[in-house]
Amino acid sequence: MSSVLRCRLLGHRYRFLSEGDTMVWHCARECGAKGSKRYPTPQDAERYARAFDREDLADLGRRAPLGLLPLRLLRAWRLRRRKRAGGESPPREGL
Ligand SMILES: [Zn+2]
Repeated sequence: MSSVLRCRLLGHRYRFLSEGDTMVWHCARECGAKGSKRYPTPQDAERYARAFDREDLADLGRRAPLGLLPLRLLRAWRLRRRKRAGGESPPREGL
């Protein structure tokens, strides 16, 4: 499976770092997702980066991928179904 598709299904696997007074993050699967946020001091940036990084890794361990995947697929399927159902009237049964 490509990393981009995995990210779409399972969510990004962000790693957080600090660069001076800026916290930067990117997806560990290298799908291209990234971001940054500035803090008043380099100490703040470092502290938040460490906290977020730890939280993300802990979350990965706790999460059950097998339980999560069907839910996401179901949601995607429902969205697609709703879009397609657009102007059509539902089939009438029993008539
Ligand atoms: Zn990603």
